[in-house]
Amino acid sequence: MSELLSYGRQSIDDTDVEAVVRVLRSDFLTSGPEVEAFEREFADFVAAKHAIAVCNATAALHLAMLVAGVEEGDRVITSPITFLASANCAAYVGARPDFCDIDALSYNVDPGKLKTEWRDDTKAVVAVDYAGQAADMPAVAEIARERGAVVIEDASHAVGGKFTHCGKIWQIGGHPWADITVFSFHPVKTMTTGEGGMLVTDNEEFAVRARLLRNHGIERDPARFSGADLGSQTSEHGSWYYEMQELGYNYRITDLQCALGRSQLKRVPDFVQRRREIVARYNSAFADLAYVTTPQLRHPGDAAHTSWHLYTLQIDFAALRQNRAQVMAELRERGVGTQVLYIPVHLQPWYRQTYGYTAGQFPIAEGFYSRCLSIPLYPSLTDNDVEGVIKAVREVVA
Ligand SMILES: *Cc1c(COP(=O)(O)O)cnc(C)c1O
Repeated sequence: MSELLSYGRQSIDDTDVEAVVRVLRSDFLTSGPEVEAFEREFADFVAAKHAIAVCNATAALHLAMLVAGVEEGDRVITSPITFLASANCAAYVGARPDFCDIDALSYNVDPGKLKTEWRDDTKAVVAVDYAGQAADMPAVAEIARERGAVVIEDASHAVGGKFTHCGKIWQIGGHPWADITVFSFHPVKTMTTGEGGMLVTDNEEFAVRARLLRNHGIERDPARFSGADLGSQTSEHGSWYYEMQELGYNYRITDLQCALGRSQLKRVPDFVQRRREIVARYNSAFADLAYVTTPQLRHPGDAAHTSWHLYTLQIDFAALRQNRAQVMAELRERGVGTQVLYIPVHLQPWYRQTYGYTAGQFPIAEGFYSRCLSIPLYPSLTDNDVEGVIKAVREVVA
């Protein structure tokens, strides 16, 4: 291998390029027909009623907090093993981000611990589907709903994923245990729009409000006007008329991006199929390595349904007598890029300073962090690339 393989990257083909070029030559560059079509197609794909496309998943998480009614003084609970945005969204609305330790097998929030961490003012839970494996959503929902909280699933890693529950297969985004599901279309994720995100819900009220807040709180539908007098007769209201009903944001996504999204969405079944093939190959190639733990599924049968955004190994660096930086450097010399996903959020300086978090509070997450290393996983890896990665990993960590 000559060039460095990164841990993740986009797959763009000629149909994707043509889709974007077609929009460049059209009447709308933003907030036009591509956005609506992408939303409809995505909602159908995940079997949800409403999909609201926004400029990134962080914005979608912020909107999720707002429509869920999370406010100053509330608490929101999430996993420490996630990208910052799953917790930051709570801070955006003045709520306190709380954490629940992960389960050592799936690296997702442990429902048993969720009960212990729950407080009276916990208003929402953000369950993260780490690496693409669904969090135990039925268990999370049971705990949250009994306590009147909103269930948000951060499925940024899990576009196209499904999971088994009670002998049935459920689509992430379309199952009944999340009130809101959020997806990311950042280039390292399963499909991309450059930057982009989607908020998915079956709740009509949440959907209407998320659309409003995406665009400055502007309402243009006469059926939803407040009736306030804005200095013109109601009978005069033309298509130019609008009301700002609450303080919203510019979280819009462009038609250019949504054209790419529509094209990429068609390719998702192939993307996840290829990801599963590579995961299966890695799993068997690393099964005999003494200091390495390969990703495990809560339901082994979900190997056929999981969309796998990341392939994260747990490596016992102490037993190997090499630290992670050395292992990463040696893999890099062999053309294999790796990444540490994630530094537990509560250990970040801002979280320590603002909320008083300290090391040792979430020991399973911190143990996972000390051992994790994500190796290249994306659909355009060739079989040769995959064998190269395997050879390099076996040389370095055997
Ligand atoms: C990537 C990611 C996000 C943020 O997505 P953006 O689209 O970059 O804002 C949020 N949560 C998780 C778990 C992610 O991996």
